This record gives sequence, C-alpha cells and structure tokens, in this order.
Amino acid sequence: MRFWNSDVLRLLLAVLLAAIVSIFSGHFLYLLLLICIIYILRQAILLNQIKHWLQSGAKAAPPSHSGIWDEIYYQIFRIKKSNKKRKKRLSRIIEQFRKSTAALPDAIVVLGEYDEIIWFNNAAKPILGLKKRDKGQRIPNLIRMPAFIEFLGEKDPGAILNIKSPANEQVTLQIKIVSYDSNAHLLVAHDISYLKNIERMRKNFVDNISHELRTPLTVLKGYLETLEDLDDEHSPLLTHSLQQMNNQTLRMQCLVDDLLLLANLETKKIHHQCIEIPLLLTQLCQEVGTLESFNRVELFVDSKINILGNKQELHSAFSNLIVNALKYSPEDSIVTIQWYQSGQSLVLDITDQGEGIAETEIPKITERFYRIDIQRKLEKKGTGLGLAIVKHVLVRHNAQLKISSQLGKGSCFSCIFPKQQFC
Ligand code: ADP
Repeated sequence: MRFWNSDVLRLLLAVLLAAIVSIFSGHFLYLLLLICIIYILRQAILLNQIKHWLQSGAKAAPPSHSGIWDEIYYQIFRIKKSNKKRKKRLSRIIEQFRKSTAALPDAIVVLGEYDEIIWFNNAAKPILGLKKRDKGQRIPNLIRMPAFIEFLGEKDPGAILNIKSPANEQVTLQIKIVSYDSNAHLLVAHDISYLKNIERMRKNFVDNISHELRTPLTVLKGYLETLEDLDDEHSPLLTHSLQQMNNQTLRMQCLVDDLLLLANLETKKIHHQCIEIPLLLTQLCQEVGTLESFNRVELFVDSKINILGNKQELHSAFSNLIVNALKYSPEDSIVTIQWYQSGQSLVLDITDQGEGIAETEIPKITERFYRIDIQRKLEKKGTGLGLAIVKHVLVRHNAQLKISSQLGKGSCFSCIFPKQQFC
C-alpha cells in the first residue's frame, strides 16, 4: 500500500505541476495528456523489464525500482524462493523413495497405459530379467508366458499369479498387479521359491511316510484277521480288543490311502479323456447299492454332454460326495443326484436331507483333516480328507465346488464344470 501511495503521490505532483505551469502558459489539458502518455510509457517499459527478468528465469536479483513495481518484484522473488525450497524438499523425498524401493527385495515395475515399462527397481533385474534398455518397451513383449499375458490383461486387483521367473527357471514368483491410477499400474513380483521348497518337502514327506506305512499296516491287518479267525469267542475282552484293533487298522489304511491320493493329485499330471458322466454316475449308484443304501439314492440325468477329465479322479470325488451325503443324513432319507446344464456350465448336484452345515463351517470343511465337531467324529467314521480330495480333483478339472446348506434341513454340494471341459 505504501508503494502504491508513493506512485499515486508522484502522479498527483505531476498533475499539480502541470496545473501551475498551465497558469502561465495555458494548455492544461495538453499537459495532462503528456503526463498520461509519459506515465503509460514508463509502465510499458517496466512491464517489458519484468517480462525479460521472468524469461531469464528470474535468477538475477530483481532490478530496483520504486513504487508498486518494487513490491511486485519482491513478491515474485519471494514466491520463487519458497518454490525452490519446496522443490528441493520434494526431490529429497523422491530420492529417498527411489532408494527405498531400489533396496526392496521384491521386484517392482511401474507400467503405463499400454503396459509399457516406465520404471523398475534393482530387484527387477535379477528377478524378472529386465535391463535398463527395456524401459519404454511393453512388458508382454519381454515376458511372453501366456499365463502372464492373460493375467496382465485382466488386471484383477485381488488376483495373484504364480509363475517361474523368466530369468531363472529355479525361481518361482508370485505376481500382483496394483492399479494406482486409471492409466498406471504397479507390478510386484515376490520370490516364493523357499515356500515352494517347504511345500515340496512337506509333500515328499507325506508321500514317503504314507508309502512306508502301507506295508506294515497290511501285515498287521493280515495277522489281526488270522487272530480273529482263531478267536473262539471264549474271551469277550479278546474279541472286543481284536475288533477295536481291526477297526483302527482299517481307519489307518483309509487315512494312508487318502493321503497318497492327495499327494498324487498334487504332483501327478492329469491325462484328460472324454468321460461319460451319466454312465459314471450310474456305476457309482450301483456301488453305493452294494453298501445297502441303493434305495436311498435317486439319480436324474438331464444332460448328455460329457466332460473332459480323468475317470479315476472324478469317480473318487463324486463317490466321496455321495458317501458323505448318505453318511451325514438319516438312514431313511433320500439323496438326490442331478446332472444338468445351467447356462454355460454343466452341474452335478448332490442333495441330502441331513443335519446340514453351519454357515461358518462351510469354508473350513474342505480343509485337510477338518471335521465339524467331536460328536460327529465319534459317531461317523471318516478321515477328514474326503472334501479336500474333492476340491483338488475339481481344481484339476477347472471346476468349482459350491456348498449350500441349512442346519436341520440338509446340504447341496454342486460341482460346476465350465464349457471348456465339455466334450
Ligand atoms: P470325513 O471323512 O469326515 O467325511 P470330509 O472331508 O469328507 O471328511 O468332510 C469333512 C466334514 O464336513 C465332515 O466331517 C462333516 O462334518 C462335514 N460334511 C461333509 N459332507 C457333509 C454333508 N453332506 N452334510 C453334513 N456335513 C457334511
């Protein structure tokens, strides 16, 4: 305001001077016009100066002027100085961010709108095999695995992909895509080789131990059967003990068989062939019939489409579901088996009128060794591995297991096969 006042004062003084001069010479208006022209010219020159000063980056100290222009120069200079400080602080933060991401053990790649590489950290070089010159290239052109390209195309925020590292076959990577802008994504690759190794060791251990247990169990079972034959029922204690030993050996044999089956499902490659599902289901119903439950099972076949798959595995999965339905429902109730097409999928529903499963238990029952409660454990024989086997078999057939149940009313286990498995 002070500077502005001095400018106004200077203008008033000039007008006053013109008025005094015009007393002697007249031509007040001409003098006033002259003052205005001089004033405008001066402002134009000063504006031009400020333009040059700004164009040169306002690096030099601002030219000294009096009046409002001094204030304008001062304010610009001040803003510029504080901007410089902010810029320095920002570049320090960016530098720290760069250093911390560079030190991360996970590979991080910033991808643009067309999946082109904008930036990557140091870990991306050994983990993904990226090189400095790859910046700007589209990542699907560098990592050409079909599963990776499909995964990248979907950009599902919750999805995870496990693949072999393109730089090292021995390394398994877990890949995630995080979108942080409509056009920008972050690819994070985490080395999970150690987890895979532990998993492999666990599988090998279970596989070996199950194999090793098989022979002693068969021998034990043989001797128990011989002893049972020899038992002349004079000693009830011995009869009871032999029965208990036999039951437990049988249970142990079932456990070992289920563990071996699971180990095979996890490791062995699946060989697909066209399986006639209606025929398989009829066979299964006949097998259940030999368990004296034949009249409890009703089969409805509404589709003649078959499935690409492995007969043994599907037999095992469906049989587990049917046996469960019979086992966990009253002896006089009906179990229905339905094979039908629903939209783009083929569905096998196995419905019982049994005790049902609480909603909180549904996600847990497909876990290995999970059985709902002690009472059931005591009442119904089982290993707790049946549904884990079903889940594995269905995953190997690109299918899904859907469980719907109501306590006290019954359960429905649905195996849903996608169109790609039709044959
Ligand atoms: P199990 O050998 O105990 O039957 P599963 O893995 O086949 O093992 O099943 C796990 C648990 O899920 C069972 O112990 C049982 O409690 C529950 N379950 C499975 N099928 C049914 C069903 N049809 N109705 C009620 N509960 C069921």
